[in-house]
This record gives sequence, C-alpha cells and structure tokens, in this order.
Amino acid sequence: MVILKKIDEVRAQVKEWKKQGLTVGLVPTMGYLHEGHQSLIKKSVEQNDRTVVSVFVNPIQFGPNEDLESYPRDLEADAKLCESTGADIIFNPEPEEMYADGFVSFINMTGLPNALCGLTRPIHFKGVCTVVGKLFNIVTPDRAYFGQKDAQQLAIIMRMVKDLNFDIEIVGCPIIREADGLAKSSRNIYLTPEERKAAVVLSKAVKLGQDMIADGERDAAKIVGEMKKLISAEPLATIDYVEMVNMDTMQSIEKAEGHVLCAMAVKFGKARLIDNFIAEL
Ligand code: AMP
Repeated sequence: MVILKKIDEVRAQVKEWKKQGLTVGLVPTMGYLHEGHQSLIKKSVEQNDRTVVSVFVNPIQFGPNEDLESYPRDLEADAKLCESTGADIIFNPEPEEMYADGFVSFINMTGLPNALCGLTRPIHFKGVCTVVGKLFNIVTPDRAYFGQKDAQQLAIIMRMVKDLNFDIEIVGCPIIREADGLAKSSRNIYLTPEERKAAVVLSKAVKLGQDMIADGERDAAKIVGEMKKLISAEPLATIDYVEMVNMDTMQSIEKAEGHVLCAMAVKFGKARLIDNFIAEL
C-alpha cells in the first residue's frame, strides 16, 4: 500500500489499473479511522480489484465555529488500518492540492441539504458534494462506499450521482456500533468519561423508535416525541434535532411509511453526535 499526496500520482496509478481491466473502489474519509470506516474498506476490497481510501479533512465542509482545527488526525494509525484491511492507496492531499489558488467552482444542491444537519450546518453539504465530486473525478472509481451513519450525506450523494451522471455505483453500508450501542465516530474522542456514558442514550432512542414501529405505531410525531423524551431525560444531552423524514427527499413526514429515515443530532459537551435508523414500511 502507498500513501499518495498528489492528484496526478493517483490518476497515473488508476490509469494503469484500468489498462489492466481492474475495477476500483473508493472510500472517502476524513481519517482517524475506526471499525466503521474499516467496514467500508472491507466491502470495497471484497467487491473491487483495487481500493483507494481518501483521508482528507475537507476544510470547505466546516463552518466558521466548527472543529476543523481540532478534528483528530493520525495518518500513521490510518495507514496501518488501511494496509491490514487490504487497501491499495491512501490518497492524503494537502488542502492546497485540492483547492488551488483561485478555486471558485462548487457543487451546490438545492432541496435535500435544507433539512436535518443542513439546517444547523448551512455550508456543510456544499463542501461535501464538492469534495466528493472532485474525488470521483480524480479516482474515477467503479464503486464508492458511504456509511448509513451519515444518512443525509448518503441520500445527497446518491442524488448527486443520479443528477450529474457520475458513472459510479454508490454502496451504502450499515452503522457499526460500540458494544454498548454508541455509533462509532471519530468525534467520540471529544467525550469526557461521563459524556461517553450519557451518549448511549442515542442508540437507546434509536431502539425505542424501531420498537415502536415494530409494534405498529406509525404516527411520526408520537415516535419522535417519545425518542425526544428519552434523550431529554439525560442531563448531559442537548438535542439539536430528532426528526422523521422521507429518506429520498428529506421532507418531513407525518406518517411512518415508505422509505423512512429517523435521524437525530445531539450535543454532549464539545461533541455533536448523530445517529439514525432507516425503515422500509
Ligand atoms: P468520516 O471520516 O466521518 O467523514 O466518515 C467517512 C465515511 O465513513 C462516511 O461514509 C461515514 O458515513 C462512514 N462511517 C463513519 N462512521 C461509521 C460507522 N460507525 N459505521 C459505518 N460507517 C461509518
């Protein structure tokens, strides 16, 4: 496995692979990799001849008061994880390599970003779509892997690929959790021991919502209301949102039917954590 810093180096290697008729999978990440990322890399290694993992803390998807500077980084550990999982390239560009002087072209989607995380992070998805579009053009993968953990991002990328005719299959992968249910996240490192314990309430709320649906409840307000009640009972938790929307449109729904996404963002001290479940009803 090699770590490449330059766009031209990645292009040259991928060109070589394609000449040999090999398929290529891409796993875009911001690094500080854990078993959640690893599950995406594993899937790509299974489904493709070669796998590229991008490790890039994308500055244009962070708002002015967000954690760009403090976002955890550990390329050495990331390289070990990628190598042992069977990846072939880590693409780790500097910001100047991705956004050269005079950069002014962005992918700006309407509709889907104006919900859930997009409401409190207004420039986030413009930054995500732009960097993912660039990575797609640089790597030209056959398949790209995204976690359901970031469900709104997954829906947005699927829409972008459809709208802009990227010839790439998007593969969504299930949420990987800690033993006690907390979804694995690079940002879990921000949690104090007390907050770490308290954060289990997120997966408990997910379970509560899923159980209510399994018991036949379809009133979205009722389900979300009970989930919010459970989270609010945890003194260290501050709810940003808990919402039920259509997974494909991100529009709020009153009744849990069709392709349902029930998503939440909750703050614990410095950490803003997300979790969700998807149901087909
Ligand atoms: P990030 O490095 O946080 O930008 O995440 C890179 C990719 O890994 C995204 O597609 C995430 O959805 C995915 N991912 C992060 N955490 C998890 C997890 N716990 N389970 C599954 N996928 C994850």
